[in-house]
Amino acid sequence: MAEARRRTVRDLRRGNREVLLRALYFGGPASRQELGTATGLSAATVSNVTGDLLADGVIVEAGQVGSDGGRPRVILRANAEHGYAIGVDVGETHVRVELFDLGMAEQAKVEYALRPARHDVELVVRHILAGIDLVMAEAGVSQERVLGVGIGVPGLVERGPDAVIHAPTYGWQGVPLGALLRGASVLPSSQGLLGAQTRSPRTGTELPLYVDNGAKTMGQAELWFGAGRGARHAIVALIGSGVGASIVTDGMTYRGANGSAGEWGHTPIAVGGRLCRCGARGCLEAYVGAEGLLERYREVSPSADPLAEEVAGLAALLADGSAAARELMADTVTCLGAGLGNLVNLFNPERIVLGGWAGLMMGRRHLEDIRAATARHALAQPYAQTAIELGQLGADAVALGAATLVIDAFLLDSAPRTTDAAVLS
Ligand SMILES: [Zn+2]
Repeated sequence: MAEARRRTVRDLRRGNREVLLRALYFGGPASRQELGTATGLSAATVSNVTGDLLADGVIVEAGQVGSDGGRPRVILRANAEHGYAIGVDVGETHVRVELFDLGMAEQAKVEYALRPARHDVELVVRHILAGIDLVMAEAGVSQERVLGVGIGVPGLVERGPDAVIHAPTYGWQGVPLGALLRGASVLPSSQGLLGAQTRSPRTGTELPLYVDNGAKTMGQAELWFGAGRGARHAIVALIGSGVGASIVTDGMTYRGANGSAGEWGHTPIAVGGRLCRCGARGCLEAYVGAEGLLERYREVSPSADPLAEEVAGLAALLADGSAAARELMADTVTCLGAGLGNLVNLFNPERIVLGGWAGLMMGRRHLEDIRAATARHALAQPYAQTAIELGQLGADAVALGAATLVIDAFLLDSAPRTTDAAVLS
């Protein structure tokens, strides 16, 4: 349905190219006849378009299979070496840069440590630019062969050529990351951390840039390659220090008017409740995000280590058999169930994938309880149609997900999409 709708507003030939390329990319190797069956395109169209794709080196022949009594059929597949995509994870404690081929096999990777409390914009920009050069050099891939750089960042990303980032909990307010990576020389004076005179690196990158919220990029990775694979209506619910969600409806990530959709963590579950780091009260994040949860743990249990970093702190809470800790976890599961129940009622997903490092830790221990709590908070019918599963890609899938932004644009024939993440080519 979505394909049909989109084809009416886009050049038909390019639409056919995208449909066939997506079928090969996600459906694996296939003969022309199988492609026709899978896409509903005529034999003549499949023949024409695959001819163009072969000529461009986007797909290749991958052997033949015999057919009953007739000529053997040629099997086609996407050419993983046609180009490369770089994915960048700008995280709490690191900047990670990875280079993938089009089959999403990792070719090179570099990681720079960041001090959690200090997210110096200029330093992060320098790490990203250095990382891009380094992974290309390490993999022996020239810049011309790289289709673009996807970047997953904390907070909200304004669409537009500058990819302005608003991430108060990260210490970034109005940071024009796209412009800085292009080599813009001066940060705006609104950038309070560094002031107006701070200079960014003199040279930037000319590669196309695709910037999006890290939770959304991880959601896309789970959707393409992990627990969400094959689902057209899915939600990837991500719990780390904070809480976010990536909502996919009819196969497309739902972004809202300005790209901020999916701020599930800041939906209230307790009117007038605990203060959230966004400044509001009663947000889901203040109850089930690791930061808020560990704060509650310290309030109820003298045995909670006030200096433990978050992963160790959450592990200690999950292992704590005291009545106070058990009661806190039961309450947390209830809050999470209420939050997930809201998603079920609002979006009628066929699958919810619970991910993020804290979501995975809690889910491994309490998935059945989380499902039961969700059932108590959701309407019976949509809940019965929803599977709640754990993420499969671990907590390190932000860079992979960011690279999928590049691949997505490539599958669209490299055309900028106004409905998608900030596209800065
Ligand atoms: Zn909040």
